[in-house]
Amino acid sequence: MIFNSVLSTTRPGGLKLLTVGMLALIVAGCSTPRSTLVDRGDYIVDTTHPAKGQNERVRFLILHYTALDDARSLKVLTQGQVSAHYLVAKNPPLRDKKPVVMQLVPEDMRAWHAGVSNWNGRVNINDSSVGIEIVNLGFTDNMLGVRTWYPYNETQITALAALTKDIIKRNNITPDNVLGHSDIAPLRKQDPGKLFPWKRFAEMGVGAWPDDATVNKYLAGRQPSAPTDVLTLQKALHQYGYDKIPQNGELDKETRLTISAFQMHFRPTDIEGNADAQTEAIAKALVEKYRT
Ligand SMILES: [Zn+2]
Repeated sequence: MIFNSVLSTTRPGGLKLLTVGMLALIVAGCSTPRSTLVDRGDYIVDTTHPAKGQNERVRFLILHYTALDDARSLKVLTQGQVSAHYLVAKNPPLRDKKPVVMQLVPEDMRAWHAGVSNWNGRVNINDSSVGIEIVNLGFTDNMLGVRTWYPYNETQITALAALTKDIIKRNNITPDNVLGHSDIAPLRKQDPGKLFPWKRFAEMGVGAWPDDATVNKYLAGRQPSAPTDVLTLQKALHQYGYDKIPQNGELDKETRLTISAFQMHFRPTDIEGNADAQTEAIAKALVEKYRT
């Protein structure tokens, strides 16, 4: 969601790779290793000795809804203090039968979409993520307080499937690091909302999902809606990645909001934030699959 993000305005510095004026020289004779020199204008860099200790800077893929229409989404995300790497329109146009998505920020630059955020021991997720905003109005509450969520359409799903698979592959992003804004900021965000089809995306290879058999093992014959020990659920959610969930055994406001964020992702039929047996079983199944 675009509004209310607390943003750092720090610009990335000194990390941009310069590839101008590349000059490769082969060491005289046939001896190895091969020396590769890169001319950067006033100095030359020798890249002969690449370190084994390195990995991708991008670790996370974060999904959002904009809660605005197409025109306002584009304006806010290009002219304001928030941005995202990609914007998927309400009805992405087709070109050569392929959906067109908008890229607003290059992937090697930092976009301002996550705000204050935490996941699995990491903070400031803007530093290490690619962010996708999807045009969707989110939800509306009527006068009786009944909430209606807006669905995503098939054109958006098709565009997102291709886009997310490509980003994940190029950046080696693990399934448990494909997340919603509500996962990394559960106390203040609800996007991409309970109607984002996380299970369908997991079946396409995008994002995490627990195995049914493991969920049943941890359910251990209990009714899915049966109340469960709050501290046990808090511990499981903390172990999976929700770093800020209290560890006090109380169903306080922070705990409820975090449980609800988890339920929006993995058990959207009931997102009330109660500590029930099914939520605990899903959390433990995810820990077993992705954290051990
Ligand atoms: Zn968001």
